[in-house]
Amino acid sequence: MKALYFENKIIKVAVLNVTSKFNKYAALGRFSPTRYSEIPEPQIPNQRWLKVKNKSCGLCGTDIHFIFMQMDPKCSPAAAPGISRKYLGHELVAEVTEAGSEAGDIKVGDRVSLRIDWPSCFQMEIDPPCRQCRLGNYMLCENLGKKTMPIVDTGGGFSPYMVMHRTQPYKIPDTLSDAEAILLEPTACAVHGVFKQKPSPGDKVLVIGCGTIGLLTVAVARAIQQDAKIYALARYPFQAEMAMKLGADGVLVEDKDIYRHLAKLTGANYWQGYFGNKILLGGFDVVYDSIGNDKTINDALRWTRAGGNIVILGINFKPGKIDYTPIWYQEVNIIGMNCHANESEKDTSFDVAARLISEKKIKLEGIITHRFPMDRYKDAIKTFFSKRESKAIKVVLDHEVD
Ligand SMILES: [Zn+2]
Ligand SMILES: [Zn+2]
Repeated sequence: MKALYFENKIIKVAVLNVTSKFNKYAALGRFSPTRYSEIPEPQIPNQRWLKVKNKSCGLCGTDIHFIFMQMDPKCSPAAAPGISRKYLGHELVAEVTEAGSEAGDIKVGDRVSLRIDWPSCFQMEIDPPCRQCRLGNYMLCENLGKKTMPIVDTGGGFSPYMVMHRTQPYKIPDTLSDAEAILLEPTACAVHGVFKQKPSPGDKVLVIGCGTIGLLTVAVARAIQQDAKIYALARYPFQAEMAMKLGADGVLVEDKDIYRHLAKLTGANYWQGYFGNKILLGGFDVVYDSIGNDKTINDALRWTRAGGNIVILGINFKPGKIDYTPIWYQEVNIIGMNCHANESEKDTSFDVAARLISEKKIKLEGIITHRFPMDRYKDAIKTFFSKRESKAIKVVLDHEVD
């Protein structure tokens, strides 16, 4: 079978870094570390594993970071143990085709998505698990890289088949359509971000960025708090339109007067110093930054009221420069989050997301804007990159159905 994967070989990565300077799409070329190549169909390594047949899989910003190697070797994740071959695609909908005798409650024919997509105590069967895994924080596993997995070539959402340890899949409720199920994983990310700092009644909330995660953050925040003013900052008008549909009270498209606009919106005092230095006194109670780069974090710190909270949902592998003075000067809190976990003793982020979708508290129509057959993955990536023209939100790749 053919699979899309990233080969973590330093020479290939180095070549890509150079060729990318001349060719925007060098990552899609022959010498790139990203391969769409023939690999053996994966087999379950023991009875605690399952094999699934993928139907569709969403293309995520993190897949793009891997494909285009938008990752600085100085960023903290690069210091942790790496993975020699990373199968891409995790926003998947699949059907179970084989279940080991100890694979648990999930049966052949069940529809599943991928919940745990990071080597953790769960797949490595480390007993007792580390304290993070014990709390359900599998993304924060402290035993990462300690033990080799029983299988390396698992396949991923961008291959026709993949194998999963019994702890990895999430059984999709029948109330969810396949299209909704593709969005379950990104919705779980938005749930985890919003639950890190839930908006309170009367709060003024800002979501920075209106890609899939930003939009879903608007939707989740709205679903759990009707009595907050939720605003979003978008780059393109089609994103603004979707944010309004998902429950935003207003959307701004960034311009040079954005600080003044936001001051007016929140009733904050706007101040300007030398060299274009600006800050709001007062401002938003909660800011969700779905981009998480230098510019957005610097802005978020200056748009948040004293004692307010910023949740960083954006995944960015580039260490940057920020002015951290607002953190002490205005006692602003910065909260990190990494994908999904448990939200309470009985609920995972996926449980909460599935419930919000099933109960129609968030409506996902229109988020999937493009679908391509798997072998046109390059067109899918180009569509993702040309949002201004393509108006892409979520781009999905479909496996052929027989
Ligand atoms: Zn994702
Ligand atoms: Zn662990």
